[in-house]
Amino acid sequence: MTSPGTARLKALDSDHHLHPFTDFKALSEEGSRIITAASGVYIQDADGQRMLDGMAGLWCVNLGYGRQELVDAASQQMTQLPYYNTFFKTAHPPAIELAAELCRLAPDHINHVFFTGSGSEANDTMLRMVRRFWALKGKPEKQWIISRENGYHGSTVAGMSLGGMAPMHEQGGPCVPGITHIRQPYWFGEGRDMNREEFGKVCADALEARILELGPDNVAAFLAEPVQGAGGAIMPPDSYWPAVKAVLEKYDILLVIDEVICGFGRLGEWFGSQHYDLKPDLMPIAKGLSSGYLPIGGVLVGDRIAETLVQEGGEFYHGFTYSGHPVCAAVALKTLEIMQRENIVERVRDDLGPYLAKRWATLADHPLVGEARSLGLMGALELVADKATGERFDSSLAVGSMCRDTCFDTGLVMRSVGDTMIISPPLVITHDEIDALVSLARAALDETARQLAASFHL
Ligand code: PMP
Repeated sequence: MTSPGTARLKALDSDHHLHPFTDFKALSEEGSRIITAASGVYIQDADGQRMLDGMAGLWCVNLGYGRQELVDAASQQMTQLPYYNTFFKTAHPPAIELAAELCRLAPDHINHVFFTGSGSEANDTMLRMVRRFWALKGKPEKQWIISRENGYHGSTVAGMSLGGMAPMHEQGGPCVPGITHIRQPYWFGEGRDMNREEFGKVCADALEARILELGPDNVAAFLAEPVQGAGGAIMPPDSYWPAVKAVLEKYDILLVIDEVICGFGRLGEWFGSQHYDLKPDLMPIAKGLSSGYLPIGGVLVGDRIAETLVQEGGEFYHGFTYSGHPVCAAVALKTLEIMQRENIVERVRDDLGPYLAKRWATLADHPLVGEARSLGLMGALELVADKATGERFDSSLAVGSMCRDTCFDTGLVMRSVGDTMIISPPLVITHDEIDALVSLARAALDETARQLAASFHL
């Protein structure tokens, strides 16, 4: 039952509020679900429905909801110093302490960080830093950034240009020049005519081919997520990253690993690049850095770049009002403290990740599921019309959206990317909650199959 208060909020929302990544007209007709409270891994809406948040908000609420320590850290910092900037030779304790702590937790070759307010701003910063680095090295022609189709790096103009989401490129362009995209290592979607490992090598070959096409002297960096998140929780074949690494070393091209989703424990290491044994020159970060409680991001900068920027630099004309915001930084510091105190990263690697993998794999027997995969606490289900051949449903049926809506009704937040269903729950989820998540996912799949059967018989 919708209360008058909730009805009022829904009406105001549809009259005045333009939501991100939303068909405004469709939403104003349907109305939105209003989330009012949350605790642990559960969220609650204004109609009183409780849902297991299988997406940790937007891949960010890694410590779960209702952490009083994070609230206290914000409140104390707000009282002490709610804002000051880090421009013009000033700093404040939270930004300094957070920079030092991040560099302590990062791999040895990373000892500097530039703060931003979001993951998109982190990728904008990275782009400018990469080009500035090569200019300072006397190679200003090294301009091209190679990234991947169906990668996601943000929604600012540089972020969407770096990302490989075709529908985003079609709106509000032109894109930032000097960015090009190669094929993604998405075996289930694009490579099932060969074995996984062959396909991984083919995708790395595509990188080498593009470098040669552009001329290695013109290529600045390769940018990728360790596991594509928004593209559909796509784990590359094991052959992919070693082959990519070899190509980049051969042509002296920087490696930028976007850790906005995979950083801070998602794959069972502090950074996703560590899972794949990569040594990135730069790592954009955000989301889990503050467990999503306040907006903060940054770029972790490897020594090779930092030494040049610091020693040969001159002013870097770049920065944000909220770079290293003291309250956000205080909450991020507390987040990192809690993660270490509760051994969250090790728990994901040794216990929760393997447990989810075992339980998630049981969904592979469902008639709608062509593949069930997971790594750490990220998972995907590929919905298919024909389990034997992996043939997809006609896209006009929007089966993924149907399943997502069914999940909400069933009490689970699971996201759809086309017909791929994805999860990325808080890293504090328990075994019992993982069991609940998998049962709810199965119930939603059953209901989706029932609705599909009913629509075919109309
Ligand atoms: N990079 C990646 C890998 C992301 O997943 C996202 C957000 N989903 C971003 C960058 C952009 O971050 P933000 O939305 O904080 O700008």
